[in-house]
Amino acid sequence: MTSMMVDLENVEVALRVERRKVKALQKELEQRQLQHVKAADIEEVFLYWRQVLRGDSGRVKLGTKRRKVISARLDDGHTVQDIKDAIDGATIDAFVGANGVRHDDIELICRDEVKLEGFIARGKAARERKAQESLPSRVATLRVALEVLSGGARIDDHGNARFKCPCCRAYWDDPMYRPLLFTDDDVSCKECGAEVEQIYTTTKELA
Ligand SMILES: [Zn+2]
Repeated sequence: MTSMMVDLENVEVALRVERRKVKALQKELEQRQLQHVKAADIEEVFLYWRQVLRGDSGRVKLGTKRRKVISARLDDGHTVQDIKDAIDGATIDAFVGANGVRHDDIELICRDEVKLEGFIARGKAARERKAQESLPSRVATLRVALEVLSGGARIDDHGNARFKCPCCRAYWDDPMYRPLLFTDDDVSCKECGAEVEQIYTTTKELA
């Protein structure tokens, strides 16, 4: 081998070593960026919890215990939004001990995946209950608006109130034709099949 070839080989070896170093550095950088994003996520979750459940008190800190469990749930694949949903669940429906203490620390909410998912489910159930409760009052509001739209209600042979339908406007100009049927806590159109939500939205647009 000539000395020139030996030199070339040495250069190639040196290059390979440098390339490996660059790769390792790039990997480290990526890792750091990921950690940075995760630290921001943990902080976001903590601040949301503190705002919602601790009145934003500056005396409540993000220490090792809380950071560790939030981090673990993110590692499980739960999103920041999942954890916020769980926090909402704890806001509505946390276990309250006999001594009146609410069990709603973020350390508990995020303690394991079972706890977290339980809190998410409680939030969802509470929202559904609330939607159910507000249905009759919504129907009552709707009835008042429809009386105005229809120029009064017409009571049919079964004692149910009938109105014009703002959704399909079937035979709108016929003062006698009333396809919209009201029962105690429900309303629907016999002509187009519209139900509470759609009728409510359409009536609100017209009002
Ligand atoms: Zn209709």
